[in-house]
Amino acid sequence: MSKPHILLIYTGGTIGMIKDFKTGALKNFNFDELLKHIPELRLLDCQITTQSFKTPIDSSNMKPEYWVTLAEIIEKNYHDFDGFVVLHGSDTMSYTASAMSFMLENLSKPLIFTGSQLPIGDLRTDAKENLITSIQIAAVQEKGKPKVQEVGLYFEYKLYRANRTTKINAEHFEAFASLNCPPLAESGVHLVFNDHVLLKKKGQKKLKVHKNLETGILLIKMFPGLHKETLSHLLSWKDVKGVILETFGSGNVTNEPWLTHALSEIIKKNIPVVNVTQCSGGSVTMGLYETSTQLKEIGVISGKDSTTEAALGKMMFLLGKGIKPSLFKAHFETPICGEMT
Ligand code: ASP
Repeated sequence: MSKPHILLIYTGGTIGMIKDFKTGALKNFNFDELLKHIPELRLLDCQITTQSFKTPIDSSNMKPEYWVTLAEIIEKNYHDFDGFVVLHGSDTMSYTASAMSFMLENLSKPLIFTGSQLPIGDLRTDAKENLITSIQIAAVQEKGKPKVQEVGLYFEYKLYRANRTTKINAEHFEAFASLNCPPLAESGVHLVFNDHVLLKKKGQKKLKVHKNLETGILLIKMFPGLHKETLSHLLSWKDVKGVILETFGSGNVTNEPWLTHALSEIIKKNIPVVNVTQCSGGSVTMGLYETSTQLKEIGVISGKDSTTEAALGKMMFLLGKGIKPSLFKAHFETPICGEMT
């Protein structure tokens, strides 16, 4: 049997940097020379091909146009490879990986995002383990099929469902958390998969890549002291197509009439409003408190236990697909690719 063939795509970020020992500065590293810098990769039981963004970017510069570029790279190479590993800056990795989970319908091969807190050329780097194990995970096959058939994010010994993750730490190697979904796999002395958590794909459906994303989105974080004027200014943006509210606790906001009124007016214009919690774990349950009952009554959509990152990608995707306003709530409240419980 031939060895699994993995496509390693470098988009940018700390992981691909190396220290110039003369000047001490970090610089982008030439990915064509990957094997030269990480000879351990030769020991992996798979064949690796690399491809890099023309101009690698810090992930803070990431935007939906680049998500489409990435989706197109995967589309173009889908049949020739058994798995994909994307090297991406950690800052917005959860956003890109979440969006990808919606854009790549019927994905049945592993697409593993990884990065690092320290550059690959740093002595104490976390990049090597993250990279090597991600490639290993992407290469695991069972009964001739890839073990992972979804978008994952591997960081510091854990493989997560990508659309359940959030970056929670800018200092620790354990930079990501997935509080509402257990890890898909954990790497210790052995690589142990949690079979009951992995998405199972039935049949062989053709990959369908969705490239139309609606970006007229407002993401508004509630805070004690938010001015009525600030909110009405934001909601008066003429191109707004969807609103995501980051609310308190289990989906609560002030029940002062101005807020309910402003949201109700926007919903009447057929602009969907989704409620996600600011907490990293737990779920929105509208109606549990008096401070969320009014939201339910005016037709606010529940993001349930989705992360903000997943809710944003899902909204761009569903609006981009042209889902009718009357059906939008039902579509949004139904899980598509494991992003909500
Ligand atoms: N600023 C970097 C980025 O997100 C940080 C990292 O790579 O972890 O591209």
